[in-house]
Amino acid sequence: MSTVHNVIIIGSGPAGYTAGLYSARAMLEPLMFAGYMSGGQLMLTSDIENFPGYPKGIGGPEMMMELREQAERFGLEVRDQNVESVDLSQRPYKVIVEGETFLTHAIIVSTGAESIWLNAPGEDEQKGRGISTCATCDGAFFKNEEVMVIGGGDSACEEATFLTRFASKVTLVHRRDVFRASTIMIERASKHEKIEIKTFRQVKEWLSDEKGLTGAVLEDPRDGTTENINVTGAFIAIGHKPITGFLGGQVEVDKEGYIIHKKHTMTSVEGVFAAGDVVDTRYKQAITAAGMGCQAAIDVEKWLEDQH
Ligand code: NAP
Repeated sequence: MSTVHNVIIIGSGPAGYTAGLYSARAMLEPLMFAGYMSGGQLMLTSDIENFPGYPKGIGGPEMMMELREQAERFGLEVRDQNVESVDLSQRPYKVIVEGETFLTHAIIVSTGAESIWLNAPGEDEQKGRGISTCATCDGAFFKNEEVMVIGGGDSACEEATFLTRFASKVTLVHRRDVFRASTIMIERASKHEKIEIKTFRQVKEWLSDEKGLTGAVLEDPRDGTTENINVTGAFIAIGHKPITGFLGGQVEVDKEGYIIHKKHTMTSVEGVFAAGDVVDTRYKQAITAAGMGCQAAIDVEKWLEDQH
């Protein structure tokens, strides 16, 4: 409790590890709380094809392990624990982890975001059974079965394409006929022989029997007409929400819960910085998160210098 750290980094995706790398190389002896599931969302991603420097692509978990190893080589201390809460009422700030209190001059929040669920009737009973938000984690359970993916963004296209490795058929269900997904991702999905795309459909209700998921009632949002789809697996890929609950409302966020930057990467609280998907309402890429992690580490270094 008596040691006051220079900087504690909370969260361990590309933003956190890059912040860790830069602040370790700046001799700030950073401490990171990586969470029980360290590595963030990219641990649930199959192939990363758009991070510069990997011409053949790289697996998400592999990249996260390499980022961690690189930061640790320069002295980042990583603990695979979740932060329960923080006390930002006075400096040094308090970070509470499993009942233990850590003191720090600066904090970088890089906790990222978590999947949003549809919350359609019947969903709760099938969560973690027939209905998932992670194809990489659960896709292999649906070998030779028919599955559906809900969403019109890059995640939905990526999940649909990934699921063709296991499923006999993948139906991609989107509520409009315009896709947010990048052209290459939607083209890849639409050309795949195992993927059928259904537009203007949204899940009205999930259907199941004693064995598990059997399908869903799909509704056309334009006129309310419905049809049933038979699937034993469903993957919801409708976006993410930022993880900020542990901040207890002490840092200003926007109406969707994203942390707001006030000066460069500093938040509304002096000495508390934020980087990556917990801030980013627009780009949400591994490369932009890593870039912002670098910016946050440099901002912390300069801010700490100004304190003396
Ligand atoms: P996203 O781009 O926000 O797309 C979410 C999709 O879900 C949208 O098509 C949206 O429909 C739909 N949706 C939202 N709420 C819904 C609801 N209640 N019912 C039905 N549909 C709903 O989210 P994302 O696909 O997770 O991507 C997030 C970010 O990560 C993006 O910036 C993306 O580029 C990035 N990403 C990149 C890669 C890659 O480059 N390999 C892979 C995955 C994600 P509407 O369009 O109608 O709003």
